[in-house]
Amino acid sequence: MIQRPRGTRDLLPPETRLWQAVERVAQDVFGAFGGDEIRTPIFESTELFVRSVGESTDIVHKEMYTFPDRKGRSLTLRPEGTAGVARAWIENSLNDRSHPLRLYYIGPMFRYERMQAGRYRQFAQIGLEILGANGPLADAELLVTLDEFFRRLGFDDLEFHINNLGDPEDRPHYQALLKQRLGLRRGELCRDCQRRFDENPLRILDCKVPACREVAKDLPAVDEVASEASRGHVRAVEAQLARLGVRFVRNPRLVRGLDYYLRTVFEVVSPQLGTNTVLCGGGRYDRLIADLGGPAMPGVGFAVGEDRIVQVLPASFRDAVLALPRLYLVPLGERARDEALGLAAGWVRAGVRLELEVAGRSVKAALKRADREAFSFVAILGDDELAAGVIAIRDLARSVEESVALSELPAWITRQTASSS
Ligand code: AMP
Repeated sequence: MIQRPRGTRDLLPPETRLWQAVERVAQDVFGAFGGDEIRTPIFESTELFVRSVGESTDIVHKEMYTFPDRKGRSLTLRPEGTAGVARAWIENSLNDRSHPLRLYYIGPMFRYERMQAGRYRQFAQIGLEILGANGPLADAELLVTLDEFFRRLGFDDLEFHINNLGDPEDRPHYQALLKQRLGLRRGELCRDCQRRFDENPLRILDCKVPACREVAKDLPAVDEVASEASRGHVRAVEAQLARLGVRFVRNPRLVRGLDYYLRTVFEVVSPQLGTNTVLCGGGRYDRLIADLGGPAMPGVGFAVGEDRIVQVLPASFRDAVLALPRLYLVPLGERARDEALGLAAGWVRAGVRLELEVAGRSVKAALKRADREAFSFVAILGDDELAAGVIAIRDLARSVEESVALSELPAWITRQTASSS
């Protein structure tokens, strides 16, 4: 049998309902804060990611799905969303529109990850970018939008971790300082960090290998050597969050795995998953669009891991989505079978969610199925009822059965649902 590739998943009902509901919340919340959706290609020129995400990052170094097309051009399945948004900004001259633009995206990303829990090779991200505003208020708005998104999903125990990565001008100085401090202890680092020592020593700060953590705990934070402007920027973001009661901590070890970030970087941590599998990551990237050949255009954004959100979705949200009231309509007899679809279509138009019995089950088999599939209501339509213009409907949770006029069925369901919630 042909199997799906390692690291991919089939998302099946009813879980797909949770995915849809999470995406609807994202659309509602991001839209309410002035956002609009952008859809960019799932594959791009390899060069885009090499130049934006950064040559020395794990993503570019060892995780990209890169392949030549039939003409030998090097293409890559997108490993993240910001690079494509930045490219689209330049290519479509979005600079000509009034700033800032708030753009969100929802879709699959691809990384050749080592197999471990919570890491997939195809996963979905929900991201939001605010482009064209360089002040701390934009960062704070982005984080408040994110906080509202999580609140509507029912989360109340998440923690925002924030750090200052400084400005690019601070970087060489800080990297030299790290190398100086790490020089003698280089041998204690893991193989990846030995490479990072030369290519990107910042990444040693957030390596999860215990030996590297031990070495990293004595290193100075970027904030200690960063420009006053960047320190003031991140402090202003934090002040806004404190004012609005968004729970956050300063985490000096947070550096993030993409090269384009500067100043504000952040992650959202769920106590259930811990700091190794964060729910969301993001930060400011004021030079990215210019580095890709566009105008000087500041940006700040985040990407939420949708797989992980669904994995730890609060029970309140989960139950509300999965427990949608559904009616099971079972026609018995020839005339009832002829009429049932027309009635069903009319009720659906009136807002009822239902399923029509089309496999010809007997009443007994249908009731058994209704129980198994957790329908809220079963309506049995016999030829006699049809002639009288009524239907026998049973509320399974309350074991009530009533005869309701056909035209009254949508209103009856609305009443039942309202009185039980
Ligand atoms: P990043 O683009 O690396 O900042 O990741 C942003 C978010 O995407 C992370 O916080 C995760 O929730 C999610 N994510 C990243 N890589 C994976 C993966 N391989 N599998 C599942 N989720 C992922």
